[in-house]
Amino acid sequence: MMKTLHKYDVIVVGGGMVGAALACTLGDAGLKIAIIEGREPVMDWPTDEVDLRVSAITRASEQFLRELGAWQAIADERVSPYSEMHVWDAGGSGNIHFDCAEVGEPNLGHIIENRVVTRALWQRLSGLPGVQRFCPATARRLTLRNTIIGCEPPTNPVQLELDDGTVLNASLIVGADGGNSWVRNQAGIDISTREYAHTALVTTVKTERHHQYTAWQRFLPTGPLAFLPLTDGYSSIVWSTTAEEAARLEALDEALFKAELAASLEHKLGAITELGPRAGFPIRGRHARHYVKPHLALVGDAAHTIHPLAGQGVNLGFADAACLARELIQAWEQDDTPGSLKVLRRYERARRGDNLLVLEAMGGFKQLFGDPSPLVRGLRSAGLNLVDRLPVLKNLFIQQALRNDAPRA
Ligand SMILES: Cc1cc2nc3c(=O)[nH]c(=O)nc-3n(C[C@H](O)[C@H](O)[C@H](O)COP(=O)(O)OP(=O)(O)OC[C@H]3O[C@@H](n4cnc5c(N)ncnc54)[C@H](O)[C@@H]3O)c2cc1C
Repeated sequence: MMKTLHKYDVIVVGGGMVGAALACTLGDAGLKIAIIEGREPVMDWPTDEVDLRVSAITRASEQFLRELGAWQAIADERVSPYSEMHVWDAGGSGNIHFDCAEVGEPNLGHIIENRVVTRALWQRLSGLPGVQRFCPATARRLTLRNTIIGCEPPTNPVQLELDDGTVLNASLIVGADGGNSWVRNQAGIDISTREYAHTALVTTVKTERHHQYTAWQRFLPTGPLAFLPLTDGYSSIVWSTTAEEAARLEALDEALFKAELAASLEHKLGAITELGPRAGFPIRGRHARHYVKPHLALVGDAAHTIHPLAGQGVNLGFADAACLARELIQAWEQDDTPGSLKVLRRYERARRGDNLLVLEAMGGFKQLFGDPSPLVRGLRSAGLNLVDRLPVLKNLFIQQALRNDAPRA
């Protein structure tokens, strides 16, 4: 049964890190926003409990979170800066070392629990009068009315019905609803997929030796193993490997798993002294063929999902949110409708190429490091060592990782 009719500038479906950040930016600028989220964000947890899901957040994303007023709450809760990165190849002699001091930065980024970021963003949303939160609520039916050439645009081009019968109207709907995006499916937007044939096994450990605020990554023939530094000497593990191998590792007895994990990192941090629960996440590359349609846009994982080996997924999502917000706010300030295709295409042009480049690069890395042939092993060792020894090339890589050029809202 239809309950209410609400009118917004923008409806954001999905209140994960990317959707919540977009809603904050738009709401802060004065647009009338509805955000729809199916699951209540976790707002409380025991202080000594570290979540399994963490992200490496770049300096550019930190700046974006600062600008939208969420960074202080994140930093006050728990963040782990990392100042160095060691990457090496199990199948050759190649290795590379990045140090923030080489580029005069205080760190290379922070490792942060996803729920810490999400909570700070939802707290910020609750203080924005122009943002109405529908949570828990699920989008049920979407109707898009297109402008007919030569006619005035329709007054309510987007109509969204929620599972409780509430009906919302807006000029624009944004799908920030993750890799299996409902909005993308409703809009009939196709995706290209890349089967990485990997599952990411994640867990939290404490090690015999301190991580030295360094992110350690070793490329094994089956996929990359990363130790990401957390507070109090803990590390978050992202071990990408074949689905069968991930299932075997997840089922392994604790002592055997600890031994195998330490050995797989060549005992760089000594023995594993504490081990948290383990969980596996299948990884698949997806890229939407279009990010926009009249009155509709996709951001974050709804537009692209990427291998976690370079820790870029949510950072690309934040860059999408910042860029889309900038275009929409500019249009709104000039009395242009936020849903017009000409406005949305500016966002798509700015972001799709960049994201595609990173997606292709990650696919290439995965293939390159999985290739056992002696020729490829020799070439990649030489390549890594060359980058490590040439300061100009190395700085280029670090600047790319910091992504200081990412668009701002
Ligand atoms: C193992 C692993 C490690 C990773 N490490 C990193 C890293 O170090 N750095 C990095 O940048 N990225 C990393 N990523 C990627 C990162 O986690 C994702 O890119 C990011 O979480 C995507 O955020 P999002 O807000 O776009 O989507 P999501 O987090 O998927 O949020 C989508 C939200 O939409 C809601 N939703 C869905 N459908 C509906 C609906 N119909 N109605 C209402 N609500 C709906 C969901 O409940 C959810 O809250 C990693 C990923 C994995 C798997």
